[in-house]
This record gives sequence, structure tokens and C-alpha cells, in this order.
Amino acid sequence: MSIERPNFEGLVTRPAMGVTGRHYYGLNCSACGEQIAVLRDASEGAVPVKIVGVTEIEITCPYCRGVSVHAIEDLAAFTHL
Ligand SMILES: [Zn+2]
Repeated sequence: MSIERPNFEGLVTRPAMGVTGRHYYGLNCSACGEQIAVLRDASEGAVPVKIVGVTEIEITCPYCRGVSVHAIEDLAAFTHL
């Protein structure tokens, strides 16, 4: 059992490649550099949100399957192209 992992149930989608034209918060894979969608931006860019915290998140890249750990503050808004 881990008590250090944040519980984002209901907020986090499975890290994904994203849908073209949709807005997400995500980051770049440490291994392949692709942009990974982590959180869906329900406002579609209308309401900027700054994600803060001291925790880290472990991401499995949907492109290369590489696992990387990032500070949650590294999540940044982007539009999937
Ligand atoms: Zn990758």
C-alpha cells in the first residue's frame, strides 16, 4: 500500500494521446518527447488553471510505454494538434 500517491480519481484520465482540438494539461515524455495528455481541460481553455502541489506523478507514455516521474507542477496546458 502506498500513501504517497495522490488520489485523483475522477480527475485523471488514463494518460493518452489526446483528441485533436481538445485542451489538456499534460507534459512531455522523458523518453520520447511526445506530449502526453494527463488531465482533460473541461473548460476547453476558457478557464486557465495553475496546478500546484509538491507531489510527483508517474506516467506511462502511451506512445513509447516508457515510465517517467514528473512533478505535478510540470503539468501545462496544451491543445492537442
Ligand atoms: Zn514516450
